Amino acid sequence: MNKVRLLKHYILTKYGRKFHSRHEIENYQNKKIKKHLDFIVEKSPFYRSLYLEYETELKTNHWRKLPIIDKAMMMEQFDLFNTVGIKKEEALNLAFSAEKTRDFSPKINNISIGLSSGTSGNRGLFLVSDKESEMWAGTVLAKLLPGSLLNTHRIAFFLRANNNLYSSTENGKITFHYFDLLDDFQSHKTRLQDIQPTIMIGPPSMLRKIAEWQAEHQLHISPTKIISVAEVLEDIDKKFIEAVFKQQLHQVYQCTEGFLATTCKHGTLHINEDLVAIQKEYLDRERGIFVPIITDFTRITQPIIRYRLNDILIERKTPCPCGSQFLALERIDGRSDDLFYGERYGEKEKKVLFPDFIRRAVMLASEHILEYKVIQKELNLIEVKIKVEQKNHEQEVKERIRMELIKLWKSFHLIEPTISFSDYNILPSDKKLKRIESRL
Ligand SMILES: [Zn+2]
Repeated sequence: MNKVRLLKHYILTKYGRKFHSRHEIENYQNKKIKKHLDFIVEKSPFYRSLYLEYETELKTNHWRKLPIIDKAMMMEQFDLFNTVGIKKEEALNLAFSAEKTRDFSPKINNISIGLSSGTSGNRGLFLVSDKESEMWAGTVLAKLLPGSLLNTHRIAFFLRANNNLYSSTENGKITFHYFDLLDDFQSHKTRLQDIQPTIMIGPPSMLRKIAEWQAEHQLHISPTKIISVAEVLEDIDKKFIEAVFKQQLHQVYQCTEGFLATTCKHGTLHINEDLVAIQKEYLDRERGIFVPIITDFTRITQPIIRYRLNDILIERKTPCPCGSQFLALERIDGRSDDLFYGERYGEKEKKVLFPDFIRRAVMLASEHILEYKVIQKELNLIEVKIKVEQKNHEQEVKERIRMELIKLWKSFHLIEPTISFSDYNILPSDKKLKRIESRL
C-alpha cells in the first residue's frame, strides 16, 4: 500500500482542484482525455481496433465523436479490452472462488478482481490495479470523510462482496469493517453495537433495517455520516433513515464502471466531473431524464471510454446552493430495464412510463405507506406490494394507490391495467432491492 499516493490524491481532490466554471471543467477534461486516449490506444487492443477509422477525431481530440460502447461489448471483448492482458476466464474463476469462500483478497499480479451483481448473463467484471486503488481511496476519502483524515473513523460497510479496493481506505486512524450482506441480522446487530461506527455505508434497504432496529431500541449507535450506495435511493427510505438518525442521508453513485457521483453538504448528488466526463442521451429532454455516456479518464487497467450505462438519471433544474459547478442530479431514477410501458388502443408503439412517474403516483396516494414495491408483470398487469402504518387504513390506501396509478395511465391515454395487491414481505439481502421493477 502506497500511502503517499493515497495522500496525494486526497489532498488534490480536497484542496487542489477547484473549478470556477463549466468552461474550466471542460478544459480540464479535454486535456486529461487526450493524454488518456494516447495511452489507451497503445495499450488496449480493443480500443485500438475500435478507433481505426477515427484517426482524425483522435488527432483533433474530438473524443465526443468516438463510438459508444456498453457492458455487453466490454464483457464480450474482455481479454482485448483490458490493458494488462488478463483473460476473462482467469478473472471469472478467481472472482467465483472469492464469492464462494467469502475471501475477497486474492489478486492476479497486482490487480484486484471484482464481480458486480446482476443476472448470470449480465454480470460485470472489474479490474483495479493497486495504483488505481490507492488513487480511488484518496479521492473517496476526500469526498466522503467528514472532517480530516487525521480524525478517528470507524467505517461500517455493508456489501454484497468485499474487495481489496475498499480495505485500501484503511489508514492509521481509519478502520474499515466489512459486513457481508449474506450474514444474519443478529450478527449485524451485535457487531454494529460493538464497533459503534462513525460512518455507515450500505444499500438503503439495509440502512433502513438498521434504522428500524435503532428506532425499536434494539440497537444504540450514533454514526455521524450515513451513506446510501448500490440501490436506487427512494424518498420513502431516505425520510425514514433521516428521521431515525436525525441527519442528512448522503449518497454515492458508484458502479463497476466508476465512482460517478457524491452528495454535497446540501444532499445534492453531483457528478464527479474531476474523474469522469459525462454526456447525456436524453429520453425526455423536457423533464431532464437521460441515460449517461461516461468517460472515466482515471482508469487505465480497464478503460471506460464513451460507455453507455444502463441507468436513468434526472438532472436538477436549479443550481445547487453549494456553488459546485459539477453537474447536479435531481435523482437516480432507476435502470433502463425497469421502465414501465403502456399501450394505446389501435397503436402498435408502446408508451414509456418512467420510474419517477410510478414513484410519484404511489407517494401521492397516501402518507400512511411504510413500504412498497410496484411490479409490472405484464403489459396490463401491475402488482403492488404494500405495508401500511395501521392495518385499518390498508383498504383505503390500496384504493387510493389504484386510483393514482389509473390516473397516471389515463393521463397518457393508455389502456388501464389491472392492479393487484399483496403484502410487502421483502427483507434486505444480497439481492438488490428495487421498489419499481419491470418483469416484462
Ligand atoms: Zn451541491
